Amino acid sequence: MQEIRVELTKNPKQKPAPGAPLPFGTIFSDHMFLMDYDKGKGWHDARIVPFGNLDMSPAAMCLHYGQSVFEGMKAYRAVDGRILLFRPDRNMARMNSSNDRLCIPQIDEKFAEKAIEKLVSVDKDWIPTSEGASLYIRPFIIGMDPHIGVHPANHLLFIVITCPVGNYYPEGLNPVKIYVEKNYVRAVRGGMGYTKTAGNYAASLKAQDEAEKQDYTQVLWLDGVERKYIEEVGTMNVFFKINGEVVTPELQGSILPGVTRMSVIEILKKWGVPVVERRLSIQELADAAKDGKLEEAFGSGTAAVISPIGHLKWGDDIMVINDGKIGELSQKLYDTLTGIQWGKIPDPFGWTVEVK
Ligand SMILES: *Cc1c(COP(=O)(O)O)cnc(C)c1O
Repeated sequence: MQEIRVELTKNPKQKPAPGAPLPFGTIFSDHMFLMDYDKGKGWHDARIVPFGNLDMSPAAMCLHYGQSVFEGMKAYRAVDGRILLFRPDRNMARMNSSNDRLCIPQIDEKFAEKAIEKLVSVDKDWIPTSEGASLYIRPFIIGMDPHIGVHPANHLLFIVITCPVGNYYPEGLNPVKIYVEKNYVRAVRGGMGYTKTAGNYAASLKAQDEAEKQDYTQVLWLDGVERKYIEEVGTMNVFFKINGEVVTPELQGSILPGVTRMSVIEILKKWGVPVVERRLSIQELADAAKDGKLEEAFGSGTAAVISPIGHLKWGDDIMVINDGKIGELSQKLYDTLTGIQWGKIPDPFGWTVEVK
């Protein structure tokens, strides 16, 4: 394995005061990880250096054609003081799946995981300790060649930056209002929906903006071809409890395979709660709501963990779920996942990885 050179900052930044607000993704820790790729040479020059601006050409390919992938994960300060990561191997495997789709060279997953652990260890004093706070980790890869021409890059950068982030729910879990998107689509089978790549988010901005103007938190995407089947919410996968059974859309290429989604399914199976991955149409959901069978709905993702949905709008059809209150199962899943992540309860799945 490559050595990781470490150059510590000579100008450490002032850390946020304990308990100070930590708006998501706005405060960055002192260091970052960098590694270059050059065709013929492979990944090389792994290093942890002071956080700072990149030196890049305005012709850098990622700026023009979006050859970029990213990941999102967190480091948690456990109740006993240990530092924990949650299933980092799944994030690195997903990054390689995104890499493959974007013609980005594969990374050594084990090495990348070690690099992240080392970066978190160097900046461990940046992990906030207040209730529900964590260190958000953003690994990403960008094509760097200064070349205005569409082809895969020969020179790329793998970068990891981290941000202390506060509790997503400072006032407790509040169900959100979601709006079913009828005009825009996010991804289609054969496209890039299953990858974490910049273009998917560029495609989502307009719908998100219109949803916010109407006082909705996010949109629920339907499939891009028939506009009938439920896919996912802005940055979350989605689950519905219908007549005692938990249903989530099956992965078929246009949906992001969330690590939280996978974990929810595994937990439900362990509890013996019926859970199925299948196609689910918005009409079926509306019918279930009318018949009083739509018991709970929630989104799942690293940032919010579990986000209960209390109100769903599909055209003129308004579905109010569980009287707009959080469901029992949603709450139990939230408590279990966050309990494992912060080391408050045993981790029977072996999902957490300690950073020394
Ligand atoms: C990251 C992401 C998710 C959630 O994935 P997790 O691994 O659970 O954080 C869901 N949908 C989209 C579009 C995402 O970008």
